[in-house]
Amino acid sequence: MTTHATSWNFRRAVVTGGAGFLGSHLCEWLLSLGTQVVCLDNFLTGIPANVAHLTDDPGFRLARCDITDFIHVSGEVDLVLHFASPASPADYLRLPIQTLKVGSTGTLHSLGLAREKKARFVLASTSEVYGDPLEHPQREVYWGNVNPLGPRGVYDEAKRYAEALTTAYRANCGVDAVIVRIFNTYGPRMRPDDGRAIPTFIRQALAGEPITVAGDGSQTRSVCYVDDTVQGILALAASGHPGPVNIGSPDEITILHLAETIRDMVDAQAPIRLINRPVDDPSVRKPDTTLAETLLGWKATTSREQGLHKTIEWFRSALADQEDLPSF
Ligand code: NAD
Ligand code: UDP
Repeated sequence: MTTHATSWNFRRAVVTGGAGFLGSHLCEWLLSLGTQVVCLDNFLTGIPANVAHLTDDPGFRLARCDITDFIHVSGEVDLVLHFASPASPADYLRLPIQTLKVGSTGTLHSLGLAREKKARFVLASTSEVYGDPLEHPQREVYWGNVNPLGPRGVYDEAKRYAEALTTAYRANCGVDAVIVRIFNTYGPRMRPDDGRAIPTFIRQALAGEPITVAGDGSQTRSVCYVDDTVQGILALAASGHPGPVNIGSPDEITILHLAETIRDMVDAQAPIRLINRPVDDPSVRKPDTTLAETLLGWKATTSREQGLHKTIEWFRSALADQEDLPSF
């Protein structure tokens, strides 16, 4: 594997939430770059199976740990990637307190670890800090439009607080921290029942069930294949930049078009069923990626068709082997 990160010198990384979707891909890429990995996870929304293929690697260690309690890692660490948090709206709506706790106390502990170890720190922030955006596409200088009292507030505000905390640790405690604002990412190892649009549509199309499109499906997202997102995150980690930097694809698509595309790729006869739109569901979302392109020389390169094809094939075989998949 190669990465856009030209000077990759990290010897040992801690990945919080490393058994989740993005975290497990990060662990895999880090090991491929010769970086040892300590993966911390309490399996709230992730599963050990996501990193089972890494456990024979002598550079990999998996520890069950709730990072809102305490984090202790012995030995040197020069990179902390803080990715622990429920990320799917369905997950953070059923886990509101855990989401607020991991975004606040969990971020505090992760920053404390980076401070103690004098490690580079990467905060996994999100396009959700822009809320239901009044600026389109979203640039990093945009402050956002978030309803703190709405159901999504538990996630959005936890991430906004985490950004403020990270900025304070950088300014006051000398932590070499960077904020990455990740936009909708998809790929293998998403849970089929995690409620996000792409895994839901693929699962439904494969089962020949109605594909549930919220509202009239005219709302947009810009979806990025996981390998592209991970490369952007690692390039940013290696850059020394403080961020925030948007990492995502500018390939904007309506949710209805996304549902039809997946149905057609699965070759299913499944009908589209319109369902109620969630409260405060953002109407549009698209990153301005100028900063990532100029700073890192990075942009997403996987086409929507390629990325969806790989993801559909992964779901096809994972669903055929149902017992490997947890239900939450
Ligand atoms: P995920 O739910 O698959 O992974 C999150 C992981 O964090 C899980 O393995 C979960 O068990 C773990 N976790 C949660 N609380 C924990 C705690 N208290 N202690 C230890 N581990 C804990 O979600 P994901 O899609 O992989 O997202 C990972 C990170 O990236 C999140 O911080 C999310 O906000 C961010 N992000 C993801 C996306 C995306 O499109 N996937 C977009 C923007 C931001
Ligand atoms: N969505 C949908 N049907 C589903 C799941 C999601 O139409 O079964 C919609 C959802 O309302 C939103 C979009 O798809 O408008 C993206 O939702 P997702 O949960 O994937 O991501 P997020 O809202 O966090 O961007």
